[in-house]
Amino acid sequence: QTSTKGDGFETAMKLGGKVPLGLKAKRLRIVVTGGAGFVGSHLVDRLIARGDSVIVVDNFFTGRKENLVHQFGNPRFELIRHDVVEPILLEVDQIYHLACPASPVHYKFNPTNVVGTLNMLGLAKRVGARFLLTSTSEVYGDPLQHPQVETYWGNVNPIGVRSCYDEGKRTAETLSMDYHRGLGIEVRIARIFNTYGPRMCIDDGRVVSNFVAQALRKEPLTVYGDGKQTRSFQYVSDLVEGLMRLMEGEHVGPFNLGNPGEFTMLELAQVVQEVIDPNAKIEFKANTEDDPHKRRPDISKAKELLGWEPVVSLRKGLPLMVSDFRQQAICGIFLFST
Ligand code: NAD
Ligand code: UDP
Ligand code: UDP
Repeated sequence: QTSTKGDGFETAMKLGGKVPLGLKAKRLRIVVTGGAGFVGSHLVDRLIARGDSVIVVDNFFTGRKENLVHQFGNPRFELIRHDVVEPILLEVDQIYHLACPASPVHYKFNPTNVVGTLNMLGLAKRVGARFLLTSTSEVYGDPLQHPQVETYWGNVNPIGVRSCYDEGKRTAETLSMDYHRGLGIEVRIARIFNTYGPRMCIDDGRVVSNFVAQALRKEPLTVYGDGKQTRSFQYVSDLVEGLMRLMEGEHVGPFNLGNPGEFTMLELAQVVQEVIDPNAKIEFKANTEDDPHKRRPDISKAKELLGWEPVVSLRKGLPLMVSDFRQQAICGIFLFST
């Protein structure tokens, strides 16, 4: 057993189990799987700032200690190197389950989504914790409905190169709903659309990190295919706000969490030119297999039931990545020719 009940539990006991909502919300013990990654580390910062105790469980597959180093020494923070494919015993009030290789470059074969999610649901069941799954817009596959609403069932190739991720997350949603319906576990499901910001892994192959790194290195921006495919890009602080509202709210979901601003990859390249380097060149490369042609969230449900919508536009958010990417370069990952 790694830890004991958190401050929220102790406070509740002192008050005979009756805790004012505001106080309870501030003193929880929370596990964030994948908390050393891009989204997870920003979430951890917000939870710690709110007064919670946070345990990060991460195997550092794509995450980095550097993303959390500023929390080391904080008595309300704990970091455990662990692969969620293996069972783990913890005593917590909430589970944010993010652990998963999220970039197409990394997820080609990995059982994290299914086995890791099962273990975290088992944990939620044993300790009575609330469980939030970070699912993905990829569950819609190459969508035949546009924009995508949560009621759309998707168009996914079950045997394609992306299916380990798409189908893995779809199975994770199924497991979550089965534990909810069958065992009464409190679950929350977020379907996250493309998200960017500081602490993205500079070499993880996703389009925003690629373009920003390429612009800083004075290399051509690599547009795959004809560049007319679309995505909708959300800044990370907007996503973290949405995840926390979802966890604290009363609705299971699934909820689309994304920015409805839709861009072709060529338009994205132009924005990167505008905000980072007007002289950056564009180079066309062959596209990857099964690449979804378009993607844009319908966020009416999150607006109505969570009172949430993104506030950071792409032109405001992109420049906020630049100093972090330069910093990652100084740490020896890449050298920019500036
Ligand atoms: P990331 O790669 O930065 O973070 C994932 C973290 O999980 C990393 O720290 C990694 O080391 C850890 N991890 C991977 N496999 C693990 C395992 N078996 N055991 C323990 N830890 C493990 O990715 P991210 O962008 O921060 O994504 C976080 C979550 O959000 C993922 O579940 C992802 O599927 C989901 N999501 C992200 C986006 C996006 O655009 N960033 C979009 C849709 C969904
Ligand atoms: N599990 C875990 N931590 C816990 C409780 C369960 O990692 O605190 C794992 C457990 O090892 C199992 C999975 O979660 O592989 C599902 O657990 P559950 O109790 O739901 O299923 P069962 O073990 O009864 O098949
Ligand atoms: N893409 C691109 N250049 C790159 C990397 C990706 O044009 O250097 C394209 C890719 O083909 C896809 C889109 O950008 O159409 C988004 O890709 P990403 O891997 O970022 O996310 P996902 O496909 O999971 O939405």
